[in-house]
Amino acid sequence: MKSFNPLAAAIIITVSTALVLAYCFFVPEYATATLIIYISSILFLSIILGIIGWIYKKKKTSLDRGEITGITEDLNTEMIIWADDFSYVFINKRLRDLLGISKSDSNKKAGVWKAFGINAPDSSALDTIISSNSYESRFKNASGSITTIAWSTSLVRKNKKNSLYVSTGFNLTELKKMRTNLASANDFFNSSMELAEIGLIMSSDRQNYRASSETIRMLGLKSGSITVKQFRSFVHPNDRMQFDTAVNSEDYSNVKSIEMRIKSADGSYRWYSYRYKSIAGTDNTLPLFGGAILDVTQEHEKDILIERLAYIDEITEIANRNKLVDVGREIYETCRLLSYSYWIITLDIDRFHIINDTCGYTNGNHVLKNFAHILYKFVTPGGLAARISGDNFALILRDYGDNELPMRTVKSIQDEFGKLAVDELASINLNCSAGYSKMPDDGDSFLDVLEHAEFALKTSSTAQGSICAYEPSMHDSIIGSTEMEKSLALAIDNNELQLFYQPKIDLNTGKIIGVEALIRWIKPDGTIVSPDVFVPIAESSHLIGKISEFVLNEGCRQNKLWQKMGYPNIVMSINFASSDFYQTDLKDKVYEALAASGLAPEWLEVELTETLALSDIDFAVSQMNKLRELGVKLAMDDFGTGYSSLSYLQILPITLLKLDRSFITDIEHDNIAYEIVSAVIRIAKSKKIETIAEGIENTVQESILRMAGCDYGQGYLYGKPMPANKLEEFFEQNAKNTM
Ligand code: C2E
Ligand code: MG
Ligand code: MG
Repeated sequence: MKSFNPLAAAIIITVSTALVLAYCFFVPEYATATLIIYISSILFLSIILGIIGWIYKKKKTSLDRGEITGITEDLNTEMIIWADDFSYVFINKRLRDLLGISKSDSNKKAGVWKAFGINAPDSSALDTIISSNSYESRFKNASGSITTIAWSTSLVRKNKKNSLYVSTGFNLTELKKMRTNLASANDFFNSSMELAEIGLIMSSDRQNYRASSETIRMLGLKSGSITVKQFRSFVHPNDRMQFDTAVNSEDYSNVKSIEMRIKSADGSYRWYSYRYKSIAGTDNTLPLFGGAILDVTQEHEKDILIERLAYIDEITEIANRNKLVDVGREIYETCRLLSYSYWIITLDIDRFHIINDTCGYTNGNHVLKNFAHILYKFVTPGGLAARISGDNFALILRDYGDNELPMRTVKSIQDEFGKLAVDELASINLNCSAGYSKMPDDGDSFLDVLEHAEFALKTSSTAQGSICAYEPSMHDSIIGSTEMEKSLALAIDNNELQLFYQPKIDLNTGKIIGVEALIRWIKPDGTIVSPDVFVPIAESSHLIGKISEFVLNEGCRQNKLWQKMGYPNIVMSINFASSDFYQTDLKDKVYEALAASGLAPEWLEVELTETLALSDIDFAVSQMNKLRELGVKLAMDDFGTGYSSLSYLQILPITLLKLDRSFITDIEHDNIAYEIVSAVIRIAKSKKIETIAEGIENTVQESILRMAGCDYGQGYLYGKPMPANKLEEFFEQNAKNTM
């Protein structure tokens, strides 16, 4: 309701009274009645207006300026009521206290400027204050510290002269302080994490992570928001299972830890230790899942290095014997517990020492690496390939009831290995032998089973395909050869080895032209061990080197001694094993033996077998040529037993061909043997190669061979291998008989 206007009421009453009085003057007969009616009406109207005024006063709700200032004065927030021409200004008590002004100053516009943080009247600044919902001002308060207030200004009245505004403040000072503290706490936290290189990932829903700045840096993330799914894609596929377990962990009491590879900022997988814990939410907080990641790649690399040193073979980079034994023991236990079975195959590269000696260690290592690589290809889940030592390897394979598996696997390995061509090794036929046994049936422990596979390997050279399965019966004979190896080593040191000499006779004159030095092992009790028994063992255990050195030196020494003693000059033939022949310093050794004894090279002959020469024909030829350069004679022993090919007579620089005893034994009855022998003699002659028949036991054989054109003979007919002193008697006897 609009307010009552007393001036308007007075004018209306004055005008109406003047009209009534004028009427009474001109119409006097009705004057009294008119006045009575008029006065009654005025009284009635006054009563009505009085009642209305009373009601109005009772019902009035709108406030005047005084009332407003009265209300805002004690409000618990900063407030200014101001007209934009500053004809009216009111600052409430709370703001006055803050500004440090008294009540009498509350209408000073300077206080308004200060409260709004502006220095001087500035219409654009005022426009900003009016139009902004949250105008932030900063000023120095009464106590000298900075106060920040956010102002919200509303228009309360507008007229032609000016507009009246109410600005309500919201003191942000404490909030700002808190924010600053929080920010610096956050900075402190981030810096600490950065210094400690610890990244954090936290989630409240197991769907999305908040990643700390260090995590962002370490993993090269685009932002700190990343879904768990996205994060999972950074985790190495093999580690995702354990990551999933960590994400879904319901353990709210313990901190757990895993190690996993995560693709990092540089694009490579690095190892991280992830320590995580689930924290249940309360009424006021959300649950938290996640934890801290710490880059442990370096530690891991150290561990790997330690593991490598302890468990990885340096040359082939596959497992070494330590690892084989560790893993093997575990597998053996698993076999026992779960009734599984596994094969263990041990493999040995044939004639590896020849490869090493002739082609050098670099090529030797190359062969080992390639062999390991081939083995590795045959490893199936749960199995292992390892290098035990030297050229000895092992393969563990799970058995699924197929007894042919080891045989098939080894054949495939042999096939692949055979195809391997290594520069200088092109002419060497690469092969391997294998022995195998089964876990847990073939032994009481893993080491037992491994040893049995090695037993089988030792006998594999005589087995078909050079593959041999372990059988308990082979145990005894192997033990025998191992023991023999040990006692042979002792025998060499104790000088129990001695050379016997078997004469070689000129079939036309009957004169002794040479002797073959044949080794004997004479035990202290007088028993003589045949070279057929111990030479193969010596060859497989590298004792052969020592034996050959002895034979070479002793043969030269003895021959020179006989010459000095006045016996006729004869040729001393010595036998070389393949490993001797492929020594790169063979020529030097022979030269030294000749030099040490003083024997002229023409009185020394080296006997080589066909298989020995043919295992690497190019190298054999070069070795033979070196010996020939020294002036030493070369004989091909046991001709006809191996892959005999007369074409080799053309290639190999030999001076003598020894026809194998197997042709001679039955030559008097066996026409084919005779035909072969006479053909070989003919061809040899055409090549200017002399011939000798070994194993002549009777005069019929002797005559046949003489007729066939054979130059020399060796056999029991003339004399068995005998000690030096017995040969001296033979010399004398022979001299008398052939005079
Ligand atoms: P080999 O080089 O073929 O030697 C000839 C073998 O035939 C000798 O056996 C000899 O005793 C035997 N023999 C000779 N004439 C007759 C005969 O008329 N009838 C019969 N039944 N046998 C005869 P031994 O001495 O037992 O040597 C066997 C093999 O051992 C040799 O065969 C040779 O391969 C090897 N050997 C012997 N001494 C050495 C050595 O010092 N070094 C090397 N690496 N091997 C050797
Ligand atoms: Mg011989
Ligand atoms: Mg022979």
